[in-house]
Amino acid sequence: MDLTKIREDYPILDRKIYGRPLVYLDNTATSQTPREVVDSIVSGYTSTKANVHRGVHTLSMEATELQEGARRKVKEFINAPSTDEIIFTRGTTEAINLVAASYGGTFLHDGDEIILSVMEHHSNIVPWQLLQRRADIRLRVIPIREDGSLDMDAYRSLFNEHTRFVTVCHASNVLGTVNPVKEIIAEAHSHGVPVLIDGAQAAPHLKIDVQDLDADFYAFSAHKMYGPAGVGVLFGKRKYLEMMPPYQGGGEMIETVSFEKTTFAELPYKFEAGTPDFIGIAALSKAIDYMQSIGIDAIAAHEHELLEYTTKRMIEEIPGVKIYGTAPGKCAIISFLVGGEHHYDMGMLLDKLGIAVRTGHHCAQPLMHSLGIEGTVRASFAVYNTIEECDLFLNALKRVSAMLM
Ligand code: PLP
Repeated sequence: MDLTKIREDYPILDRKIYGRPLVYLDNTATSQTPREVVDSIVSGYTSTKANVHRGVHTLSMEATELQEGARRKVKEFINAPSTDEIIFTRGTTEAINLVAASYGGTFLHDGDEIILSVMEHHSNIVPWQLLQRRADIRLRVIPIREDGSLDMDAYRSLFNEHTRFVTVCHASNVLGTVNPVKEIIAEAHSHGVPVLIDGAQAAPHLKIDVQDLDADFYAFSAHKMYGPAGVGVLFGKRKYLEMMPPYQGGGEMIETVSFEKTTFAELPYKFEAGTPDFIGIAALSKAIDYMQSIGIDAIAAHEHELLEYTTKRMIEEIPGVKIYGTAPGKCAIISFLVGGEHHYDMGMLLDKLGIAVRTGHHCAQPLMHSLGIEGTVRASFAVYNTIEECDLFLNALKRVSAMLM
């Protein structure tokens, strides 16, 4: 991997923050976007912009082909059986809300139970809680072990005759833990229960094969995988998508409309009301090309090297450091605290030294409660980060810790 060449694709990495080189370690929140993906957005606006699916003119057909080409690309990327099962959304959050509102709103009733894990992002908790306004549905929570791995024995013990749905993240945005989702799905299926996987943190780092996993639903966001913000994907098995009612009403999702009766479009359009971000969707396709041109395994191996190097040095060189999430095979995310110092103070001071890390609860307050903390500092890596940047981060962290202690 030629890191110098890779970094040239990201003009933002040349920025100075308070006169120092930017070290961008907030990749879990959103990753930066390479020039070729940005170029595709520019060309979408400067040479092919026309609304999709509604026109016979050349531009509209080109725009439609770019969007539908992206659907084929996503299908291959996650090895889905059919493009009918690929629904474009605004992101992981909307994908999960779609399933909760449409599947949950129709098929979950008073007394039913949903199993989810304590490490879920708010976007995989709150949509299920919204259902509780309509029905008396109970959330059953899988706890974690000391190292941040899921307690699979506890998971198995949560099933009973009321269990109707399971939803877990593929990888935790706080702990980095990669959950054994294939095993999780197999267990749920043995009870006849469908499973949604929140893949927001997995899609940028892992090969996804929804058929091998046997996932019923799988959601992810483009902006975390070198693509644009405001675009995401929901994969759903045809058998579920067909039985689910539309999530929103509007243009594109209908077959015929009259004031007496409306019939709905076929999959996937039934779930894509209104004009989508067709330029962003085409850019997602470019982002997938970009990742595949480097190789997802190569990206993961590089990030893993940065993770190992930084973790080892933090433990050896930063007195009082505590890392949250040490499960084997974790993603390149380091959530930590140093002594009794506040995560916010550390993040602010690191920023003054050019280091961009995230601080706070990371949209995972229930996890924070279970860890007995309010928040952490989180450093996370992407393909363009370097060992030199890890050194800059470690030196800055030493300074900041010494300053605060
Ligand atoms: N799930 C996980 C695990 C995440 O890390 C995030 C974002 O950080 C989301 C869901 C929500 O993603 P988005 O805001 O792109 O919809």
